[in-house]
Amino acid sequence: MKYATFEHGGRERVGLVDTASGRIHPLDVDGMIAILARPRVPMPDLQGGGLDLTEVRLLAPIPRPHRNIFCVGKNYREHAREFTKSGFDSSAHSAGEAIPDVPIIFTKVPETVIGSGEEILYPAGISGALDYEAELGVVIGKGGCHIPRSAAADCVWGYTIINDVTARDWQARHKQWFLGKSFDTFCPMGPWLVTADEVDASNLSIRCWVNDELRQDANTGDLIFDIPTLIETISSGITLYAGDVIATGTPKGVGVGFDPPRYLRPGDCVRIEIDGLGILVNRVGLNSH
Ligand code: MG
Repeated sequence: MKYATFEHGGRERVGLVDTASGRIHPLDVDGMIAILARPRVPMPDLQGGGLDLTEVRLLAPIPRPHRNIFCVGKNYREHAREFTKSGFDSSAHSAGEAIPDVPIIFTKVPETVIGSGEEILYPAGISGALDYEAELGVVIGKGGCHIPRSAAADCVWGYTIINDVTARDWQARHKQWFLGKSFDTFCPMGPWLVTADEVDASNLSIRCWVNDELRQDANTGDLIFDIPTLIETISSGITLYAGDVIATGTPKGVGVGFDPPRYLRPGDCVRIEIDGLGILVNRVGLNSH
């Protein structure tokens, strides 16, 4: 099932999406995170027929996560190589160090999140190296600490698409992956959450276009560290809670991987599609920060 957060009549609500009919059925709940914490997902009253998706404005499925979004760096081999080769990777200084031995984890602040259709603000005068990263997002339902790989699947509520937007110059200059990934609007998420039973997250096609040019084309089966490993690693010392989000890393084909780099410009449109999860579309705003 697919659950979205949307605005209708000036009110923020959560609903069940029926892509076949193009309708959304509102639920009587207090926000998406309230649903994620429940053992059973509520069902809407389908008698009323719901609302046409064209009548509502979709927001990010979790418009304001309760804490930072967990992210994974260099989790596809070909991307790890292209990134280290670019010279922007402060975590490795030679090709031999490109592939990490353990998961590299960093975070983005919750205020970065925007929904599909919203604009990524171009950081004019602040960064000249705006980049895109198509990623599979994992949403936690049942939290916990010390979660072993064998129990990790029970903790996954569902999935969504994330664009881990990055200011490469800030990532390189400050020698860490927080500042340049946490600018306002740098975490497009959506268009909705898909429950874990609907997809096989270990085998999903993930593709990203910039202005209709295919830039990234990979499969989530190529993750270096799979989802159970990521959950086991993060929860070893940090308790996970319902509503936590893990962006699992991006494949080859980001702008900095080209020679010369092909960064985003105002007016560009980034479109990311993952099998079964929908399409996340965001234009780079002409208005600057
Ligand atoms: Mg990333």
